[in-house]
Amino acid sequence: MHTEKTITVTEPLLPDLEEFIPYLKKIWESKWITNNGQFHRQLEDALAEYLGIEYISVFTNGTLPLITALQALNITGEVITTPYSFVATTHALWWNGIKPVFVDIDPTTCNLDPDKIEAAITEKTTAIMPVHCYGMPCDTERIQAIADKYGLKVIYDAAHTFGVRINGESILKAGDMSTLSFHATKVFNTVEGGALVCHDAETKKQIDFLKNFGFNGETCVVAPGINSKMDEIRAAYGLLNLKQVDKAIEARHKAADYYRAALRGVNGVKVFEDVPGVRHNYSYFPILINAEEYGMTRDELYFKMRDDNVLGRRYFYPLISTFDTYKGLESSNPANLPVATRIADEVICLPMYYGLTEGDMERVLRCIVK
Ligand SMILES: *Cc1c(COP(=O)(O)O)cnc(C)c1O
Repeated sequence: MHTEKTITVTEPLLPDLEEFIPYLKKIWESKWITNNGQFHRQLEDALAEYLGIEYISVFTNGTLPLITALQALNITGEVITTPYSFVATTHALWWNGIKPVFVDIDPTTCNLDPDKIEAAITEKTTAIMPVHCYGMPCDTERIQAIADKYGLKVIYDAAHTFGVRINGESILKAGDMSTLSFHATKVFNTVEGGALVCHDAETKKQIDFLKNFGFNGETCVVAPGINSKMDEIRAAYGLLNLKQVDKAIEARHKAADYYRAALRGVNGVKVFEDVPGVRHNYSYFPILINAEEYGMTRDELYFKMRDDNVLGRRYFYPLISTFDTYKGLESSNPANLPVATRIADEVICLPMYYGLTEGDMERVLRCIVK
């Protein structure tokens, strides 16, 4: 019999309810509940300032900005991407009729391996869509150099990367566009939500048309847009939650240090260390289990944790390339993706969220450290 409470892998950060109510009253009074209202505009301004970027459009979730970025940049044909991500990354290509071409990842970052990108480029390739997995920065310089050499666009799925900076600069400045997710499970959430970051006013204008059916004014439709606008209630919630995000990242940092100190010396367990110059957001805490050295497989550990009411998550397992929709692609062959295949079999993300206590972490560690 379990008497201890379940430790979940994540828990959403919620704004203070008392503080939220006056915002709701304003929305009720104005009766302006969506379509670029005051809180929507304020949230875009506040996010641009917090993130240290100029142009950001907020969306109703983190998948539609991926789909919209591909539309805005007229991406067609083939796009190079990673199999080691949440399935939305590749689905966005599928929804645009684009063929995903999977390239293996680098084991130190879990991100697209720049050494393997060029071999996957064909005359149909128009873009690269990397993911900053777990908020760990991609090698943006090398990816840009390859893109420039072949005339390709770069769209970063930066869903895990809220608040990550390199030498003080936002990671969102890399590439042609970056997308964010504000889903409940992310470091910063608006319940559901997301954003698309670009680098000039003209492109932002185009994106804003696209997220509102393509409307430019009352009677003119400039493109076949979609509806992916964020409503006023979630924009107000986001404004409040943004005030807490630094506090949340700080708490996550402490938790990551606590886990790392306990796990560094454990045979067969790999932890990921901070990269010098990078302000990490500790959005996830992945560890890799080498079954031979650890004496137990990742799945055995995962189920043993579950028996103790500690929920880890095998994130990202299975690889996107193994799902029915994609497994027939040539690039989905596991022989093409040896590193991603191995890491997907070894990874387990430990509970990580604001409010995780040392007592919780001790319970997690008791499952892992023998
Ligand atoms: C969460 C996530 C998304 C999708 O975001 P939603 O807001 O859930 O639509 C896309 N890519 C990655 C890597 C994610 O983790």
